[in-house]
Amino acid sequence: MSEHPLPTPMGLAAELIERAQAVAVARRLSEVSQAGDVGSALITEAGNIYTGVSLDCACGIGFCAEHSAVAAMVTHGEHRIAAIVAVTEDGRVIPPCGRCRELVSQVHKANTATHIVLGEHETVPLGDLLPRPWKRRT
Ligand SMILES: [Zn+2]
Repeated sequence: MSEHPLPTPMGLAAELIERAQAVAVARRLSEVSQAGDVGSALITEAGNIYTGVSLDCACGIGFCAEHSAVAAMVTHGEHRIAAIVAVTEDGRVIPPCGRCRELVSQVHKANTATHIVLGEHETVPLGDLLPRPWKRRT
């Protein structure tokens, strides 16, 4: 059972989708790297919004847009995520991959309650998508 999600103000999902769409602009960085095929936006418990883009490089190097947004958030000293979304360059909302689900759950224990935005009027708590997160065993 997941923790209760933080309240999401009306329109928050739409705003996050718009912010993610604004950065989801694919561009080639070099012969072997590309960025921006996917954009992400998240809002923290404190109400700050961070965005990020995907990075794809040769040899399997790179990361998802959600990783980039989480890194921006952590850089600014926050780690409790109220809601997060990822969109493709054509504006389509996509759910986070398994690695991103784990990442969000590991940066703050209460993030199992993070709203995963699946559309302007649809969110699901991360705990519902990740019912058995990896836990370090000591
Ligand atoms: Zn991912």
